[in-house]
Amino acid sequence: MSTALPHTGSYYAASVPPATPRAPLHGQVHADVCVIGGGFTGVNTALELAERGLTVVLLEAQRIGWGASGRNGGQLIRGLGHDVSRFAHWVGEEGVRFLHDAGSASVDIVRQRVQRNGLECDLRWGYCDLANTQRHWQGLHEELQELQAQGYPHTLRLVEKQDLHQVVASDVYAGGLIDMGSGHLHPLKLIQAEAALAQARGAVIYEASSVRRIEKGPKVKVFTDHGQVTATTLVLGCDAFLEDLEPALEGKLLPAGSYVIATEPLGEARARALIPQNMALCDQRVALDYYRLTADHRLLFGGACHYSGRDPANIAEYMRPKMERVFPQLKGVGIEFQWGGMIGISANRFPQIGTLPSAPNVYYAQGYSGHGLNVTHFAARILAQAIAERESRAVDLFARVPHRTFPGGKRLRSPLLALGMLWYRCKELI
Ligand SMILES: Cc1cc2nc3c(=O)[nH]c(=O)nc-3n(C[C@H](O)[C@H](O)[C@H](O)COP(=O)(O)OP(=O)(O)OC[C@H]3O[C@@H](n4cnc5c(N)ncnc54)[C@H](O)[C@@H]3O)c2cc1C
Repeated sequence: MSTALPHTGSYYAASVPPATPRAPLHGQVHADVCVIGGGFTGVNTALELAERGLTVVLLEAQRIGWGASGRNGGQLIRGLGHDVSRFAHWVGEEGVRFLHDAGSASVDIVRQRVQRNGLECDLRWGYCDLANTQRHWQGLHEELQELQAQGYPHTLRLVEKQDLHQVVASDVYAGGLIDMGSGHLHPLKLIQAEAALAQARGAVIYEASSVRRIEKGPKVKVFTDHGQVTATTLVLGCDAFLEDLEPALEGKLLPAGSYVIATEPLGEARARALIPQNMALCDQRVALDYYRLTADHRLLFGGACHYSGRDPANIAEYMRPKMERVFPQLKGVGIEFQWGGMIGISANRFPQIGTLPSAPNVYYAQGYSGHGLNVTHFAARILAQAIAERESRAVDLFARVPHRTFPGGKRLRSPLLALGMLWYRCKELI
């Protein structure tokens, strides 16, 4: 797998004490379940399975949280990312209701895990969807009505343009929708705490253990450079980094680069003047901006979605104009951290969760399309229910939604999508 996008430069990596590396796998081991991938999907699946009494071995190519899970915007937002009523044809009306509930239940899993285990991850509640245009503003009205009709249990409130400075000190938006059931957190702290919890429950984690090959069968064999795991069940939690490890999933998702900067510490007063209620914020465009304050009063500002495979030469220079467009009052502020990460995008933006057609004992969960912090936790829960409790209704429901293979083969897939996205962005300007 690719080792691009090292953690160097990430605010997250700089703001936690360096974790002691876990040993790589050497030799042969056996387990009920082998999990590949040390992000939120893999770690939480391992944790949930260990809590259900199964023996679990997790293999991570780099370090726990090295992928998207340890570098994302930290926005813990309700929902599965996009309108799930689009999938009524495949899952039925009852299925759509289940998916709506899943969007809120997934945040509850994180909430409960953090609260019950006292995990320290700077979790704060409060999120605001921001409308860039009148059309978006109308969309937020509709979203509010839908959430209320579904019985969404948390406080929701529309904020008119003239009142928006109570939420964000910017003049670029047409209005916002506050949701007190969503929020933000330090994702690297969370994943490290969850990995420690999984180990405390009995899961065995190996780092620096890239899986090179899988041999399917009633017992699955998984090969790294120096070791082998034999397991009854395998879980693939590799998301944007899967590459060609599993041919059946080839081309089902596209890795896209997203980029984040963190300013120098602004001091509490200046930081709170930008985002008075310390909420997470995100706008509605295709190439959206997402931002929030950190616990040490920096502005953490993310955005962009690059399908080209080419990262900006200087992420800070690339992101600064986006930040200064929203907050002109930050012109010239010091940017201390800049980093990027890979998002696994699926063609319909719906998470891909299921078993391989050729191997019912090989599960996968991926393709959260930029909205994975909560959904990975839900995916882990339902995978564990299917594997440990033989309760597979939720996984089966997700698996009913078909996922197109991106056209263009390995070479043309990314450029074709980059062109498609350019078309969407041009449409936004009209
Ligand atoms: C910059 C950025 C900002 C984002 N912001 C948000 C946000 O604010 N809110 C939100 O909800 N979502 C956000 N996301 C999306 C979210 O982070 C992801 O959906 C989620 O973390 C995916 O978790 P995962 O465990 O499936 O994958 P990852 O965290 O990417 O983990 C996959 C792991 O698998 C390992 N792996 C891959 N292949 C192998 C192999 N062959 N052998 C062993 N190990 C292997 C990799 O090393 C990696 O550690 C963002 C993503 C990015 C990149």
